[in-house]
Amino acid sequence: MNIVIFGPPGAGKGTQAQIIVDERCVVQLSTGDMLRSAIAAGTELGMKAKQIMDAGQLVSDEIMVRMISERMAEDDCANGVILDGFPRTVAQAEALDAMLNERGVSLDKVIEIQVDEVALFARIEKRAAETGAARSDDTADVLTQRLKVYYANTAPVLPYYQEKGLLMSVDGMQAVEKVSEAIRQCLDS
Ligand code: AMP
Repeated sequence: MNIVIFGPPGAGKGTQAQIIVDERCVVQLSTGDMLRSAIAAGTELGMKAKQIMDAGQLVSDEIMVRMISERMAEDDCANGVILDGFPRTVAQAEALDAMLNERGVSLDKVIEIQVDEVALFARIEKRAAETGAARSDDTADVLTQRLKVYYANTAPVLPYYQEKGLLMSVDGMQAVEKVSEAIRQCLDS
């Protein structure tokens, strides 16, 4: 099963993706985590990406598509993947379709986690406090910018998947377990 988990920053994509991984034997591919690993490893890509991430902007489609394409070619992805943080633009969504087509597979579901903006700020503040501000982009200023980018560049991916009949939305304002249950129902439907 190939799934995209979709939503604004702070919606709980990573948390829910981990739960799905445990239940469905798929591999979680988080582009944000991959970029943070590149930063931690001090690679050239990581150094470039850090500036972009700290500014709340998007890393280029070309870099992100290459990163996901290389990762999806690895053996452990054969059973299915849950994409968390990708695609973030319509161009990435189109590239993902082409990538999956080439492998003779397709996307099964796109799950959107809906959370209102006030809650997103509260969650990011909480995450920053809990992790000791481990993520330098978890600040109110950067989140404001990340949300602008989400509405301008990423939200247009929703109608793209709606037209394909793949999009299902869940209420992300509920407790984590309730959100997981709603996602389970979507995946089983
Ligand atoms: P995340 O951990 O998913 O919130 O991602 C953190 C940051 O990494 C984003 O704000 C972007 O700067 C960058 N990023 C992650 N995934 C992508 C992507 N698919 N396209 C472009 N930039 C991305």
